[in-house]
Amino acid sequence: MTLRSKTGLHVVAALIAVALVTAAPISAVAQASPAPAATPFELKPLAPGVYAAIDGPGHKAGSNAGVVVGDDGVAVIDAFFTPDAAKALLATIRQLTPWPVRYVVNTHYHVDHTGGDQVFRDAGAVIIAHRNVRAWLHSENPRLLGDRITPAQRALIASLPEPDLTTRTSLTIWLGARRLDVKAYPGHTGGDLIVEVPDAKTVFAGDLLWRHTSPNVIDGRLAPWIATDNAFLALPDAAHTIFVPGHGQVADAADVAAFRDYLSDLLSDVRKARAAGLSGAALTAQVLPKMKAKYGDWDAFDYFIPKEIAFTEAELNGTKYLPLAPSD
Ligand SMILES: [Zn+2]
Repeated sequence: MTLRSKTGLHVVAALIAVALVTAAPISAVAQASPAPAATPFELKPLAPGVYAAIDGPGHKAGSNAGVVVGDDGVAVIDAFFTPDAAKALLATIRQLTPWPVRYVVNTHYHVDHTGGDQVFRDAGAVIIAHRNVRAWLHSENPRLLGDRITPAQRALIASLPEPDLTTRTSLTIWLGARRLDVKAYPGHTGGDLIVEVPDAKTVFAGDLLWRHTSPNVIDGRLAPWIATDNAFLALPDAAHTIFVPGHGQVADAADVAAFRDYLSDLLSDVRKARAAGLSGAALTAQVLPKMKAKYGDWDAFDYFIPKEIAFTEAELNGTKYLPLAPSD
């Protein structure tokens, strides 16, 4: 996502992140046994060597990330919105393990997940992403941020490194004996990857899953997205699988079902309103109260729901702008 907390807030968030990172060495000098530096995320252990880095309450990191420590290296899933947040994650990893960060997997092109890529590349990591991300990183991220984009954000997007290793389907990462299955699924952007860690029963789902948080559907196609979340629920032992969403707290299968239902209700309510001859503001006035009654307490609901309804109407009208897959 990105617009969830408004672009202005991200600017404030980035400034706060800078302040936190620059403050860290001072506290380290001042105290004999320094307290851990504040980070813009909360690191949550999920299984041995598997961690979720959950965006803090102020959304200073911009999105969630993940860390998987293997026998001889580390893989990071997503790189946050800002290089400062990525540096804080790298510093945290350095406290967990001496192994190098060998890979960073981008779950999709949105800058709130790719903004810190260069930090991990500078640390020696290979950047892995869906094939479409290479083209879309620079062409589509300005549109994602819209007319409130700042010069600093425009410069960050222009400087994003392109992925080194891409796939349209799947690939396997080996960290010694530890296996990570990277798989493409449709719905959120048309260029999304998830990372499964089978020995930890953990799935890093990127923005194909939002937990108790209204999603940014700017690039979405809802029917395949709903099918993707149903596919998550059909994974072997889904009932005992940990799902790390792109936004929101660590999730379980019930959370996946709730998010699937959100998308499904949005799609069917907009379909019904269109079938009744409604469009534009009248369609929104019909659909919004129904969604609010069910999902009004979800994070970012009031901000995103009018946009979600308008995007869904455009999708059903066949007029929605969607990034095109690059030709070879
Ligand atoms: Zn996102």
